[in-house]
Amino acid sequence: MKIAIFSTYRYDEEFLNRFNTGHELIFFTVSLNEQTAELTKGFEAICIFVNDVVNESVLKRIKANGVKLIVLRCAGFNNVDLKATKVLDIPVLRVPAYSPEAVAEHAMAMILTLDRKTHKAYNRVREGNFSIEKLMGFNLNGRKVAVIGTGKIGQAFCRILKGFGCRISAYDLFPDTDLAGQGVIYGTLEETVAGADIVSLHCPLSDTTRHLINTETLKLFKPGAMLINTSRGALINTNDVIEALKSGQLGYLGLDVYEQETALFFHDLSEDIIPDEMISRLISFPNVLITSHQGFFTQEAMEQIARVTFVNIDAFTERTELVNEVSI
Ligand code: NAD
Repeated sequence: MKIAIFSTYRYDEEFLNRFNTGHELIFFTVSLNEQTAELTKGFEAICIFVNDVVNESVLKRIKANGVKLIVLRCAGFNNVDLKATKVLDIPVLRVPAYSPEAVAEHAMAMILTLDRKTHKAYNRVREGNFSIEKLMGFNLNGRKVAVIGTGKIGQAFCRILKGFGCRISAYDLFPDTDLAGQGVIYGTLEETVAGADIVSLHCPLSDTTRHLINTETLKLFKPGAMLINTSRGALINTNDVIEALKSGQLGYLGLDVYEQETALFFHDLSEDIIPDEMISRLISFPNVLITSHQGFFTQEAMEQIARVTFVNIDAFTERTELVNEVSI
């Protein structure tokens, strides 16, 4: 099958070439969107990632170009218009899990960095400054952590938290009985975040979860609490979060995802003027840590993504069951 692979970097080429089961792969560094949709001419399949935009108009154009299959190199599919893919009869296959531990461990790395300020200590010591003033943190042992969404990543995160001796409260539409049996306390969103020292988001982005964290929900947080988002940027209303940081209601913020990340994340903009005022404001806070959607980025996860991507493509070409198909 001839496959157009969008939003690729050297590491994508390396892993996809290594696990290729005999398909013709053409790598594009650009993202798929209305401007680049014409590149799909002559391809039977496209392979995309988190920030490719697959809306109805893109879908109509790629369908006209002969594309019969969309494979996602990720689990989340909020960037694909599934109503339109259904109408156009283009199956969408994803990688449902690729090392949930990778993202869960990154969430914990963000917590530890914000708490113990190792990023600041690293820079200080490199400059010969061995002062520990203003580096004081807090013990995680005994702290209440609210986990929003206890699917694969949320569960892996709970396992890590238990190792640190944290008390865990959780909110999910479908509470996990195993976790509940292990002492995780499920409640409503309000009950879960109330009194928590740390709130970590692990639910998908949907119409019901968009801007789940806003001025109203932030008021329920313990003053000075930490918010971690490694899930999807639009789960939080960034303007409201900035106001909560300014007032001190929010004490720390760790973001691996950002609502307007498409124009920024994964690109080297170090010589450019960044036009996004909101991210510039966020970067200016001393208690904010931002990473550019690297939660998934471990060797194990990259191997799994490449392996399952070809399992999905082969299932389509061999007309076997599409076990990883997403539908509405
Ligand atoms: P999952 O499907 O296994 O779990 C999601 C959980 O959220 C489920 O238990 C579901 O019941 C729950 N949920 C759904 N809607 C909800 C709602 N309205 N309120 C509360 N809970 C709700 O998914 P996962 O593999 O754990 O991944 C979670 C999210 O992590 C993905 O959707 C994706 O956005 C994000 N992610 C980020 C990275 C990264 O690199 N930062 C990598 C992979 C996934």
